[in-house]
Amino acid sequence: MAKEKKTKTEKSELPRNWTYKLKRECLNCGEPLPDHYSKKRTYCKVIRDENGKLMQDCKGIYNRMLDQPELEVHREIIKEHKTVDDMIEAMVAKKGSVVSTADLVAYDIQLTSCLKYKIFNNGTLESDFLKYTIVSNPNLHTHKIYSHG
Ligand SMILES: [Zn+2]
Repeated sequence: MAKEKKTKTEKSELPRNWTYKLKRECLNCGEPLPDHYSKKRTYCKVIRDENGKLMQDCKGIYNRMLDQPELEVHREIIKEHKTVDDMIEAMVAKKGSVVSTADLVAYDIQLTSCLKYKIFNNGTLESDFLKYTIVSNPNLHTHKIYSHG
């Protein structure tokens, strides 16, 4: 049997000895952070190549992303509204461009999730979505759908 080689590396530096019981994750990439990392550490360790060039810099990436938070927020909003638009499209295909409140409910279309709305003196509500405008008549409980495109 070969004698086990002694390494200079500390035990904690060996990935196979790392534990992840604290279930912490890098804020940037979601990789699990080993328990022996400082409690304050919320990112992977910076990795540099032999020339000192940054290979991995989760903290830097994350902070740069935070500098432009509207990007991510917009992406989320657009995703959500695309879904609403898809539902409106499906409803129009099935029910036509004038629907009842019950139809809106059945298709889970919430007028309150519109991008903006206008209420006219006669009580008519105009709700704008990405691709559609829904004009609601409060007396008849009907909703007329106009496509922008
Ligand atoms: Zn990371």
